[in-house]
Amino acid sequence: MSDLTTDADAVTPPAAPDFSPALTNEEGIAQATALFHEAFDSDPDGVWYAPGRVNIIGEHTDYNGGLALPIALPHRAFLALRRRDDRTVRLISPQTREAVDVLDLDAIGPKGTPGEIPQWASYIAGVAWALERDGLGPLPGFDAALVSCVPLGAGLSSSAALECATSVALDEIAGLALAGPADAPADAGRARLVTSCVRAENEMAGAPTGGMDQSASLRCRAGHALELDCRDGEVVHVPFDLAAEGLALLVIDTRAEHSLADGQYGARRSACERAAEILGVELLADIAPECLEEALAALRERGGEEAEVLVARTRHVVTEIARTVELVSLLSDGRPLTGEKLTKVGQLMDASHESLRVDYEVTCPELDVAVEAVRAAGAHGARMTGGGFGGSAIALVDADRVDDAARAVVAAYGREGFALPAFLDAVPSAPAGRARG
Ligand code: ADP
Ligand code: MG
Repeated sequence: MSDLTTDADAVTPPAAPDFSPALTNEEGIAQATALFHEAFDSDPDGVWYAPGRVNIIGEHTDYNGGLALPIALPHRAFLALRRRDDRTVRLISPQTREAVDVLDLDAIGPKGTPGEIPQWASYIAGVAWALERDGLGPLPGFDAALVSCVPLGAGLSSSAALECATSVALDEIAGLALAGPADAPADAGRARLVTSCVRAENEMAGAPTGGMDQSASLRCRAGHALELDCRDGEVVHVPFDLAAEGLALLVIDTRAEHSLADGQYGARRSACERAAEILGVELLADIAPECLEEALAALRERGGEEAEVLVARTRHVVTEIARTVELVSLLSDGRPLTGEKLTKVGQLMDASHESLRVDYEVTCPELDVAVEAVRAAGAHGARMTGGGFGGSAIALVDADRVDDAARAVVAAYGREGFALPAFLDAVPSAPAGRARG
């Protein structure tokens, strides 16, 4: 029994943490190919994959023109795909095993129009549609079988993994030659694919998200985090080889469902737009940290009834961008991630969570309890990640303390009466590419 266990736990021992394993290339190829055979009775041309992502810091900064710092997860969507000679698309996933979705590339269209297609199919067929709208067509039809180990709806971008796997597959079978291989990626070409994947998500799936998820899935590097400037799409690869530093990044999937999330996301976005308008700037990222107090005073004066809300939202955005800049500069200094530097990185993650909890008000009890529990279990830093109101939290922990930290969360969830969380080990991994066994 670990030293984290309390008397109450001794009566009912907490369940062992449930870690979601990542599929290896061999497993992904074998499973996607087997499903392809079963559904289409032929061999695919190949298997392509794309990872989910987790954001280290820089939350709710993308639509404010700020910085984000995602890594690609080892958890990926694998897509076995075969080119067709017509304009038909046939899709299968274990979730839709009984029925193959049969679509016509000339008839499909955005959500809310007569061409609307099933949600999950819009993340795959929708990419072909978007690539054609972006001037990269005409594309051939295709048959595709999907096997993904990115948890659905956990804030880890299972949707972008589908889009990005499709984009690199179509890039190759249609001879677009934009992406380059995963170990020698062509970044400018991948940035073009990002644009079409975002279009698929926004228009075909009807989800008004920014480009962080797709950029991470297509443009990250193994052993690195991706500093993404959300204003202009510029990226810098920041060293983040956790295993080499004896560290690990634990992802806690809270499995909390909060139905208000969509409206709340929109409300945060529009508060930021109103604050920017009052302050006479295009985006809140235009406010330098040294001008923050002056900006907050102006909002108090001119923000009317909602002044205090605008103050709090603006304070989060400006301080979060500053924290991201500071964390990137710490990670880029070439020194080992130990001692004071590690303490500082952890403090920045903790401060990000506090800002999201108090000023941005996008956490929930499940996220707060997870973060407090891992901190008490010795995490160097912990925070919610993604949009909030559920989804996942992350914790930077010593590699040999991952299991203890996860057990501490399970025990805390037991005490609170929350549903059991799930866990992932987030090794900074390679971007989308063709899977080779
Ligand atoms: P997130 O991207 O955070 O996981 P989203 O709501 O954006 O959450 O995307 C989840 C959706 O993506 C699912 O509802 C489904 O439509 C689609 N999806 C993701 N993975 C799969 C899969 N393996 N099979 C079928 N659909 C999937
Ligand atoms: Mg998504």
